Amino acid sequence: MSAKISLLPDHVANQIAAGEVIQRPASVVKELLENAVDAQAKTIQLVIKNAGKTLVQVIDDGEGMGNTDLRLAFERHATSKINLAEDLFSLKTKGFRGEALASIAAIAQVETHTRTASDEVSHSLKIEGSKVVDQSLSTQSKGTSIAVKSLFYNIPARRNFLKSDQVELRHVIDEFHRVALAHPEVKFHFFNNGNELFDLPISGLKQRISGIFGAKWEAQLVPVEEKTSLAQIKGFAVKPDFTKKTRGQQFFFVNNRFIKSPFLHHAVSAAFEGLLRPGYQPGYFLYLTVDPQSIDINIHPTKTEVKFEEEQNLYAIIRAAVKHSLGIFQVLPTLDFEQNASMEVPYSFKDKVAVPPPIEVDSNFNPFKSDSNFRTPTSKKDPQWEGL
Ligand code: ADP
Ligand code: MG
Repeated sequence: MSAKISLLPDHVANQIAAGEVIQRPASVVKELLENAVDAQAKTIQLVIKNAGKTLVQVIDDGEGMGNTDLRLAFERHATSKINLAEDLFSLKTKGFRGEALASIAAIAQVETHTRTASDEVSHSLKIEGSKVVDQSLSTQSKGTSIAVKSLFYNIPARRNFLKSDQVELRHVIDEFHRVALAHPEVKFHFFNNGNELFDLPISGLKQRISGIFGAKWEAQLVPVEEKTSLAQIKGFAVKPDFTKKTRGQQFFFVNNRFIKSPFLHHAVSAAFEGLLRPGYQPGYFLYLTVDPQSIDINIHPTKTEVKFEEEQNLYAIIRAAVKHSLGIFQVLPTLDFEQNASMEVPYSFKDKVAVPPPIEVDSNFNPFKSDSNFRTPTSKKDPQWEGL
């Protein structure tokens, strides 16, 4: 009997893999933004059209790729971020699976321009449905621009499955928030259909939060800080009075990666117990730094779930740290060293030169001349003392 099993051609395997990693335009946004961060970019621009269905483009000023790397980047299991299985437990990068670009290129038209600091020219590559359709030299500054057009153009069923622009844009914005909150040290600029949605300068964490959600957030955050041998925790809890009924402001980052963890969320909820009005949700922006050896990120293709070695202890630490911060806030106004200096001076006074107060001198004043209405008492008989 002839063998019934055959190896799938690459483009089919890539399409299957894409099903796991790329569900919607927001997934492309996440993968491209994370690649730009991994490439050490200081400035990242995100440009989308029709909520990303027509175009998702990310332009960065990171390290770029040489010509060979540019071709390899779109192969499956091609990554510059790990070499050995052990590397999975010392990850410092967002990516490591080497499948995002291969997956995206299997289900869209992708145009890349990239240049490294040592290359004199930049290299361009066009791929459609896993096939290279054009390769050329170009001139652009150091960094990488990847434009992903007509997502799912070759899988009509997936394309029809996409929701309205409004819903897809919401998902894109959520992914943008997660990467931008994890990296306040990077400048982000975001446009949809030519309209600027976000312009976030390099800043501290608190300013990044208010840059995203609005200036009034600055006054509503209580700092959370804790250092133990298991984990370092930094970030903010939202003051109970300012919490909302929706779950919009719940962010956990582990080693600068946004993660979803119902278990750790429960720990924060326990810390808020008794402080929230019924139906209101705790709000938090918590950043955990743990030993990469103590976590496993490779349990889900989108890498938003993490397995912790010492989950129970972490639960107790987080609950105590948040509870402590909320407790201090209840009795003391919070000392805030991260306050944006420019926010403290009323705007109209910001650039004014200080005017010294006038000094008024009475040139006729003579300290030796006695006051006509006051006489030094000479004796108790003096009429001035009478009646006392
Ligand atoms: P992963 O991020 O898991 O390594 P990707 O498919 O996302 O896999 O990317 C493959 C490789 O392409 C990366 O390992 C990296 O070397 C390179 N690459 C991707 N995007 C960029 C970028 N914006 N700048 C520089 N190199 C990039
Ligand atoms: Mg990647």
